[in-house]
Amino acid sequence: MAEQKPSAIYLKDYTVPNFLIDKTELTFDLDETQTIVTSRLHLRRNPESKVQTSALVLDGGEDVKLIGVAIDDYALPEQEYTIKDDKLIITATPNEFVLTCETMIEPQNNTKLEGLYRSSSMFCTQCEAEGFRHITYYLDRPDVMSIFTTTIIGDETRYPVMLSNGNEIERGKTEEGKTFVTWHDPFKKPAYLFALVAGDLEVLNDSFTTMSGRDVKLQIFTEKHNIDKVDFAMDSLKRSMKWDEEVYGREYDLDIFMIVAVDDFNMGAMENKGLNIFNSSCLLASPETTTDDAYLRVEAVVAHEYFHNWSGNRVTCRDWFQLSLKEGFTVFRDQSFSADTHSDVVKRVEDVSFLKTAQFAEDAGPMSHPIRPASFIEISNFYTLTIYEKGSEVVRMIHTLLGEEGFRKGSDLYFERHDGQAVTCDDFVKAMEDANGVDLSQFKRWYSQAGTPRLTVTDSYDEQAQTYSLTIQQMTPPTPNQPTKLALHIPVKVGLVGQSNEALSFTFDGQTQDEVVLHVNDVEQTFVFENVMSKPVPSLLRGFSAPVKLDYDYSTEQLLQLMSGDPDGFNRWSASQQLAVNELNKLIAQYQNGAQFSEETPLVEGFKALLADESLDPAMVALILGLPSQAYMSELADKIDPQAIKAAREHLRGIAAKALEVEFKHVYESNASNEAYQASAEQIAKRSLKNAALSYWVASGSDEAKAAVVRQYRNADNMTDQFAALSCVVHFNLAEADELLNAFFEQWKHEALVVNKWLMLSAAREHENGLAQVKALMEHPSFDIKNPNKLRSVIGGLGQNVDAFHNLDGSGYAFLADQIILLNKRNPQIASRLCTPLTRWQRMVPALAEKMKGELERIAREDLSKDVYEVVSKSLA
Ligand code: ZN
Repeated sequence: MAEQKPSAIYLKDYTVPNFLIDKTELTFDLDETQTIVTSRLHLRRNPESKVQTSALVLDGGEDVKLIGVAIDDYALPEQEYTIKDDKLIITATPNEFVLTCETMIEPQNNTKLEGLYRSSSMFCTQCEAEGFRHITYYLDRPDVMSIFTTTIIGDETRYPVMLSNGNEIERGKTEEGKTFVTWHDPFKKPAYLFALVAGDLEVLNDSFTTMSGRDVKLQIFTEKHNIDKVDFAMDSLKRSMKWDEEVYGREYDLDIFMIVAVDDFNMGAMENKGLNIFNSSCLLASPETTTDDAYLRVEAVVAHEYFHNWSGNRVTCRDWFQLSLKEGFTVFRDQSFSADTHSDVVKRVEDVSFLKTAQFAEDAGPMSHPIRPASFIEISNFYTLTIYEKGSEVVRMIHTLLGEEGFRKGSDLYFERHDGQAVTCDDFVKAMEDANGVDLSQFKRWYSQAGTPRLTVTDSYDEQAQTYSLTIQQMTPPTPNQPTKLALHIPVKVGLVGQSNEALSFTFDGQTQDEVVLHVNDVEQTFVFENVMSKPVPSLLRGFSAPVKLDYDYSTEQLLQLMSGDPDGFNRWSASQQLAVNELNKLIAQYQNGAQFSEETPLVEGFKALLADESLDPAMVALILGLPSQAYMSELADKIDPQAIKAAREHLRGIAAKALEVEFKHVYESNASNEAYQASAEQIAKRSLKNAALSYWVASGSDEAKAAVVRQYRNADNMTDQFAALSCVVHFNLAEADELLNAFFEQWKHEALVVNKWLMLSAAREHENGLAQVKALMEHPSFDIKNPNKLRSVIGGLGQNVDAFHNLDGSGYAFLADQIILLNKRNPQIASRLCTPLTRWQRMVPALAEKMKGELERIAREDLSKDVYEVVSKSLA
């Protein structure tokens, strides 16, 4: 039999469902070896469907075993239905009927972590995007919305806690003496929002009073040993609920909101209605075991999933091409929440830096796609940085164009108009347009056009006329299936800075102002600013007002000036990054030409001024001190030369460290604190600067610094300081590296999330045989290939290990390919994500590109899951 290649599905082929399911009644009889699922689906023909058919086609999976099927309690004989390509086809049905289906599944053998599976001692589900079909036969598409009632039957001693969506309405004993619990969710929802959890769990209870005065019960469930680590998540939840009321006018709707932490999870977390399920790495937090970054992530993810209750659940997606409708919007919402909670500039810098590093790279590669893709082979591959992060940037641009109030009017209209519906990105933009009386038709090209636009800016100043003109050209490079691009509507926020760092005001559009949003909507445009008193330095794309690459030929002096004096905090960071990028590019060229590295850099002057200015937010100083990452420099490179980038970064850091040794020591010492740990903006900021200064100080080679870092490791009372010190010790390969890595493992071997940090750091550690070390870690008793977090730690660590991963002999790539092949069928989603570094092969220097390509070709010869097939075949196309 010839193997069939998986095929793509297209947005343009969308049709409404032929049937609707008004009510869904499910019974789960949970058992250690097999679980019996009985569904009663109240079906009827969809009056809106143009297809006249009485045949019902339900989605299923290879892992679902059909026991029996009945229509209105008439058991269908085998000739009245067929199972083909995992679909259950019932040849003839009435207009309206109840379909009963009995199926058997084996959650304990479910390694894909889609559908119902076991994680440690518990049962849990993951249904987005198409997991529900691995539980029972269903119309598993987001535009089929139904009222769910779920009964769970299980052994009370093993599963004292049995949860599903909505409210618990009944509980009792079955004839065999098992316990049953029935849950009812009064809100219509697609199957992807269904959830079930059963296990021996501990709970933290709390409550929240909504703006209309309703009391909502809040519960967070974990395995017993983790219940002491959910206070911060609970607090984040309550703050999110309040924020959504205040900023968006959105109130929670059910009487109960539950969150459950599970150890085995493919993604971060899931917004199931009333019953969020979280990867424990995104929920658990305690000062001793959790770093500041992880605290912030917990807060952001709790908020994100909570916000989905409106942007995603009450108003959901018509089809999966519209994924960014809920994800882009919800990321924008969680980013705004974090910005309001901490420092908005710091948050913006972090988000932008992530976008420019990872999303830009994705958009420049073979998987590049618009935020609303036109086609896909496997939807799981489209939970991407483009859908999420660029999607959020597109919503942010609408916010910039409409202003705070206009945006709120638009979101109010959107929620009111579409409550209870499954809609499209067009509906979202339409609500924004209608509420504000604006035309966003050109703007909508952002939804269908892929690639990162490039803006090229030139300027001139006329001293006589006191006018300043900016000429802006836009160009979006070709991407797969999109050779030519149309001009986009791009909001570019601009200010002008005078010679002594004062904000220069100007007249634009007949008004005097000192900042303006330019509407770039043509291939080339010139904007004239009048009454500009002196020759300005342009501060362009303030706050990163659009997700574009910007070219303006700044001199080093101009960058130094903006870095210390731009009234816009975000652009001070931007200028420092640009300066550091320029310096690194010089060093990279020197390395590649076999020339001597320069020993001087203007960055020292910039850093010196920065370190001396005590009025600055320490978190901002830390961000500015952070050199452009290996990954970001790779994204910018024509041909990626990992060794050259690494050498250049180390060298540049060394120069700054030696030149400013005294300053770094001072900043390190003056930011130390002996207050009790708090995940507050203020403390986090100080710790980030302290630890940034520490790593420079150690990089200077000072013995005093080496002693200080070891002391910090030993004395730390929180994971942020302990791990920052350990990372330094390992990175600079201090004499204590082995000893402290071992001590760290011994201290924390009972804390899975800390062990994951140890795995990552150990895998990233550069030494003669880095790959052998990674292989050993995968044999270590604490490793478990079934657990995605552990796998991500080790493989992620390897990815950072330049010498081991990018070894010229190709052994690093071959090892990664081996893991992909191993996981291909076991867990296709994870396998597919592991492919990412290899998809960049065309960007690498030729020697490495060849090796990567060879590995992709080797993977392609396997019998591939749809997930891996799509990524590998597109990468080789
Ligand atoms: Zn989401």
